[in-house]
Amino acid sequence: MSAPRIAVTWPRRAPRTPDRYLDAIAAAGGRPLLVTPETGPAGLAGADGLLLAGGLDLHPSLYDQALDPRVAETVEIDGERDRLEMVVVGAALAQGLPVLGICRGHQALNVALGGTLVQDLSLRGIAVPIHYQRRRDPEPPEWEPVHRVRIAPDSRLAAILGAEEVSVNSFHHQVVDRPAPGLRVVGTAEDGLIEALEAPDDPFLLSVQWHPERMARTDPRQAALFAAFVEAARAARSRTTDPARR
Ligand code: MN
Repeated sequence: MSAPRIAVTWPRRAPRTPDRYLDAIAAAGGRPLLVTPETGPAGLAGADGLLLAGGLDLHPSLYDQALDPRVAETVEIDGERDRLEMVVVGAALAQGLPVLGICRGHQALNVALGGTLVQDLSLRGIAVPIHYQRRRDPEPPEWEPVHRVRIAPDSRLAAILGAEEVSVNSFHHQVVDRPAPGLRVVGTAEDGLIEALEAPDDPFLLSVQWHPERMARTDPRQAALFAAFVEAARAARSRTTDPARR
């Protein structure tokens, strides 16, 4: 059987292709393909797993909130990507595909399943540079960890990472507020922010607030996250009766 195919969500007008995601998937034995507003949800056809990648903010209307005027200038929206991802999450889960959410994708998965977000960390009295390392001076390299995350010991994530605490990078000014029904908090930063979620049951449904694709070359634990995801996609593919995936 050839390599499992991993669909990666990406915007229409991106400054670059998602190289680090594609590299991390390929290094784990997967074959990446892109799902964008140009492909629409049809881009998911033939995929064995869905990776919701990082990017801009989700519109608060998706979790029944207005844009908070106090932080409106910090929020950047890509409406067509929002609409695409809400559809492809549902389609992937209906097909029993493994889903991995990263940064925006972690937030998108939570919102798609009925959870909410904090629109800006300043609303929680948290200085944004703590979780947004581009705003630090000097700015650390993107693979460099800037805070720790405690991992629930009995979680799938702990088994994958082989650790109950990891040090991670951080590029977010928003964060999960209320977890969606069916998702369990399995990673928490020192300040209490939710950094990882998972569905306790199959299929593989897991998300992290940090950027493992930027750490995978330097941190074997983060590479292991991609390996576990690609392995789940391989297992999903071996179960499928969909001729497009055979
Ligand atoms: Mn963080």
